[in-house]
Amino acid sequence: MTVVQSASKTILPTVEDFYLCDDEFLDDEERLVRDSARQFCRKELLPHIRAWDAGDIKPYARKEDLTRDVAVKLARALNVFGATLPEMGKYLDASEFVPMTPAGYGLVMREIEAVDTSLRSLASVQSSLGLFAVYTFGSEEVKRKWLPLLYRGEKLVCFGLTEPQGGSDPASMKTTAEKTARGWVLDGTKVWITNGFADLAVVWARTGDGIRGFLVENGAPGFTVRHEEKWALRAGTASSLTFNRCEVPDANLLPGSVQEPPNDLKCPLRCLSEARFSIIWGAVGAARACVEEVLEFVKNRNLFGRPLASKQAMVAKLVWCLNEVENMSLVAHRIASLKAKGRLHYAHISLAKYNNADKSVKVAQESVDMLPADVFTFEAYHSGRHLRNLQIIKKYEGTHEIHTLMVGRALTGLSAF
Ligand SMILES: Cc1cc2nc3c(=O)[nH]c(=O)nc-3n(C[C@H](O)[C@H](O)[C@H](O)COP(=O)(O)OP(=O)(O)OC[C@H]3O[C@@H](n4cnc5c(N)ncnc54)[C@H](O)[C@@H]3O)c2cc1C
Repeated sequence: MTVVQSASKTILPTVEDFYLCDDEFLDDEERLVRDSARQFCRKELLPHIRAWDAGDIKPYARKEDLTRDVAVKLARALNVFGATLPEMGKYLDASEFVPMTPAGYGLVMREIEAVDTSLRSLASVQSSLGLFAVYTFGSEEVKRKWLPLLYRGEKLVCFGLTEPQGGSDPASMKTTAEKTARGWVLDGTKVWITNGFADLAVVWARTGDGIRGFLVENGAPGFTVRHEEKWALRAGTASSLTFNRCEVPDANLLPGSVQEPPNDLKCPLRCLSEARFSIIWGAVGAARACVEEVLEFVKNRNLFGRPLASKQAMVAKLVWCLNEVENMSLVAHRIASLKAKGRLHYAHISLAKYNNADKSVKVAQESVDMLPADVFTFEAYHSGRHLRNLQIIKKYEGTHEIHTLMVGRALTGLSAF
């Protein structure tokens, strides 16, 4: 039998969408979301990111002012915070809510992280960790108060789970919440909290009956925030949060988080699953940005009489990188499709995070290897910054090793933790 292939349907694949994933898997609305996000990121964020990363944040006085401004702009331009939550519209003005599919949301994360991981982190903490926790576990009263402000980016929320003795084992949590006649008193320390300066913190603490989520407003007595300096994700902030006899009213306990042990940890872990979805997509953006940068470079750099793009050693590395990015992209689209169908298991998310975070670091490393010495400056190229940043996505929201163990347990039925 002769197979007739219609030549008119094939096009030369490009680095932007080699397997035509966007072309094939997205609907018109999702393509519109992607294009708006790309346009916004390239116009509003990309021109500034190298200076922000290098520490020049003028006209902002502090990094938190920069974060707040980016959050408001992202909310206004892309309506991204909480956009996949079905009942979000209930808490907003008529026609204010613009719902997004999981793929649409993932595309926004991908386009932001193509610029910088710290900007995607600030967006996904606001949306997938903080706002999601308030929406999923909060009382009606709390939801009415906070969700509109968080959706609009007018107020920021952070998520405090990790503690100094080791983030990989949240069951060993030491932060306590003690019941009093007036409410609760929190004691303990959370570390490495993205957007820790936020107006509102979702804080996980141990009560006599299990781990619960609490809302703590910035400025609450006994609550202090200390900013940490770091050599990656430099356009964003991470802080330690300390609670010293910090009193919160009864209304600040998230009622949906009241679960009997051992199910009590499932609530913060549900939030992490949401945030890992953003990482899976974001990693594709940063890795592809590296490949695009290298491709431009090797086509234009002439050495030994010819462009570097004509050297076999370079082509082999470039194709290796493209292959990884396309595989990461297939994974991201697949995860979005499972999420849209309500079929996404946390082990799917773990394997996808395991793959995409690790491969993004390797692609960025290869890209840095292919670029010239000025890749190590703050001014030239983006791949060096992506490499620094991407190492963190292997560490946070469950380290690479922890996701290995989670997938292993799903596979074998045995815990190797
Ligand atoms: C920039 C940044 C932002 C962050 N933002 C937040 C945030 O907003 N909110 C929040 O709550 N947390 C946040 N984190 C914390 C992050 O989630 C933790 O760093 C992470 O969970 C790992 O915890 P740890 O650093 O304490 O390392 P540890 O848990 O002490 O682990 C140390 C090492 O041991 C390995 N390891 C642990 N257990 C095992 C095992 N059983 N077998 C083999 N190896 C193992 C780990 O993989 C890791 O390599 C952030 C971290 C960073 C760097």
